[in-house]
Amino acid sequence: MNIRLFKPSVGKEELGELQHVFDRQWLGLGPTVSKFETEWSRYINVNESVGVNSATAALHLALTAFNFPKGKKVLVPAITFVSTASAVIYNDLEPIFVDVNEDTASISISDLEKKYTKDCVAIIPVHNGGYPASMEKIIEFARINNLKVIEDCAHCAGGDYNGKKLGTWGDIGCFSFEEKKCMTTGDGGMISSDDSELISPLRAHRWIGIDKDTWRRNMSNNDDRNSDPMHWHYEISVLGYKYNMNDIAAAIGLAQLKKLDSMNEARRKIIEKYLVGIKNLNHIKPIFPYSLDSNEAYWFFGIRTQMRDELIVYLNSKGIANGVHFYPIPLHPYFKKYDNGCDISKKIWKEFITLPSHVDLTDEEIQYVLEHLSKFEKKNF
Ligand SMILES: *Cc1c(COP(=O)(O)O)cnc(C)c1O
Repeated sequence: MNIRLFKPSVGKEELGELQHVFDRQWLGLGPTVSKFETEWSRYINVNESVGVNSATAALHLALTAFNFPKGKKVLVPAITFVSTASAVIYNDLEPIFVDVNEDTASISISDLEKKYTKDCVAIIPVHNGGYPASMEKIIEFARINNLKVIEDCAHCAGGDYNGKKLGTWGDIGCFSFEEKKCMTTGDGGMISSDDSELISPLRAHRWIGIDKDTWRRNMSNNDDRNSDPMHWHYEISVLGYKYNMNDIAAAIGLAQLKKLDSMNEARRKIIEKYLVGIKNLNHIKPIFPYSLDSNEAYWFFGIRTQMRDELIVYLNSKGIANGVHFYPIPLHPYFKKYDNGCDISKKIWKEFITLPSHVDLTDEEIQYVLEHLSKFEKKNF
């Protein structure tokens, strides 16, 4: 057996949407991006969404929207993907790492209270692995301390928390459509908010600073192309980036969005099988307290074990791909200068293993993984 860890699930629906883009012969930032933005906004129930080429770009621009003074501080969990922290530094701000709870690997409210100072301007909670951060408490803490809240929803596209979509609890939600995430556009990301005035200006920031996109210019030209000598004109009033989503990615996104609920459901079913399968093991435990009766969107199934490295080598020898999510950010050489403790993060990551969790995983493959987890435990503990 050779079982992949992550795998996008794409097929004829995506090819069908791509055919429309090919028929139109407009591949860049255009009408398909607009359509995907509108459908995404409707799906998560927000007023405005801006499509970009990654969640890294989304997080960068989401912070840019607030125009914080240089050197201010932004609270981020110690256990996350590097982009959550990089986005802070891109904006000339300073990341302040917040430790996680031992049992959930999710941002700790008590450490948040400890790390907060009056120089903090924002917090970026991460719904790590799709396990929702305690949003009521975070929103309350942010309100009292005048912090902006940007949710990093790279792991939970389509997920609910207490009946409200993740990404709509804070001021801005940022999503990833990278190929391994809950849904994909190849590479891609989305910035979503109820506050249109806050994020509409980011349309220029994502498009090298141009305040009208080429598609709209092209369309308006069709009416008065012959009489308007300024039809080519646009103005740059902000320093922008080449961060736009394109119509090829958006076409894949339109098809993936239709499947998102069923893909999230498929992942919950896979996780349920894993949970049943490891229930009687004593030394291999789920990474989070997964709750499967809600509409949560989990990106992966992870476990914890004291013999982590031995189990990784064993899984490798059996053709079972695996990973570790995540090595705490303050341990990376570049981020050492921001290290401020976070002892729980630095302890618990050593027990993490991510197991194959993609939606097309077969029952046979899941049983094969479970069989080897049991064998490993019998032999080693
Ligand atoms: C994957 C990921 C990102 C970045 O997503 P890209 O679309 O690859 O840029 C940001 N935050 C977290 C937590 C992630 O896992």
